[in-house]
Amino acid sequence: MRAAQIIEQRKPLKIGNVPDPTPGPHDVIVKVEASGICRSDWHAWMGDWEWLGLSPVLPIIPGHEMGGVVEAVGAEVKNFRPGDRVTTPFHEGCSHCSNCQSGHSNRCDNLQIYGFAYDGAYAEYVKIPNGDFNLVKLPDEVDFVTAAAIGCRYMTGYHGVVRANLQPGDWLVVHGTGGVGLSSIQVGNAVGAQVIAVDVDDAKLEMARKEGAVATINARNENVVEAVKQITKGGAHASIEALGIQETILNSVLSLRKGGRHVQIGLTTHNEAGIVGLPIDAVTAQELEIVGSLGNPRTEYDGLLALIAQGKLNPRSLVSKEVSLDDVNDVLNDMTNFRTYGFNVITKFK
Ligand SMILES: [Zn+2]
Ligand SMILES: [Zn+2]
Repeated sequence: MRAAQIIEQRKPLKIGNVPDPTPGPHDVIVKVEASGICRSDWHAWMGDWEWLGLSPVLPIIPGHEMGGVVEAVGAEVKNFRPGDRVTTPFHEGCSHCSNCQSGHSNRCDNLQIYGFAYDGAYAEYVKIPNGDFNLVKLPDEVDFVTAAAIGCRYMTGYHGVVRANLQPGDWLVVHGTGGVGLSSIQVGNAVGAQVIAVDVDDAKLEMARKEGAVATINARNENVVEAVKQITKGGAHASIEALGIQETILNSVLSLRKGGRHVQIGLTTHNEAGIVGLPIDAVTAQELEIVGSLGNPRTEYDGLLALIAQGKLNPRSLVSKEVSLDDVNDVLNDMTNFRTYGFNVITKFK
């Protein structure tokens, strides 16, 4: 099959033929119809995230956002058969630990990310382990590009909004309007929050408005904390930090009203290496809540897919470009320069 492989960090991916994957007893082989190019792939390619244990052993085929059709199933797989239309969360669960058993597959004790721990979906075929547990059937209304669009960033934004515990009319500030941020804005708007988008790029803020942000703040030109407090008359009920940068994390926490909730989604880069400072006395004095949000548990897919099938959520609107496997190096280089807008999805593999 044709695939793109990271051979060496920061060097162009090698695009060419590799052996087809074969299924073990619990594995499912999926013919990839659409495969998203995520900023996490860029981080893997740059060599970030050793402190998270997320440095892939090279060579590896990246890609952890996909929609496709079941091609072959292992002998023990019971719930899927060739021809089924499927997607999967980027984080694959073991199915038997206490977190998987209690519906929190995103907290699996043996969690593995396809495209990081083993080969992913920048390829014609991908092997998904524990297929019965990890694969999700797609409703007829949900096409493959949409499935790729929800594989990581969109479902992460969705779960982030769930974690924000919003009431209708609440003010939600989304810091960073990349893929996760735009997704959070769309979902936050759909659940009745008043969303404020913060970024340093006016074109991205314009996209944020299209996805339902009622106000935008360009952090290059404005003091974010003051602007949020003014717009919200006292501070946001919740905020989502989708960048992993010390300054934006501080802006997020300091922009909350008393009792507000900061949801951390963004993972840091080499500058922070996983450690940031927090205004901890303000957390105490204002009874702020700081929560993390990782991916989206398998159990939240039914709601997510139903809302998409009904047209209440439209992840496809975030797909700015369909590209071919041969274009992945160009897209990664654009990510280095923050020149990608919305999602780039591979739909051509030959
Ligand atoms: Zn598990
Ligand atoms: Zn991702």
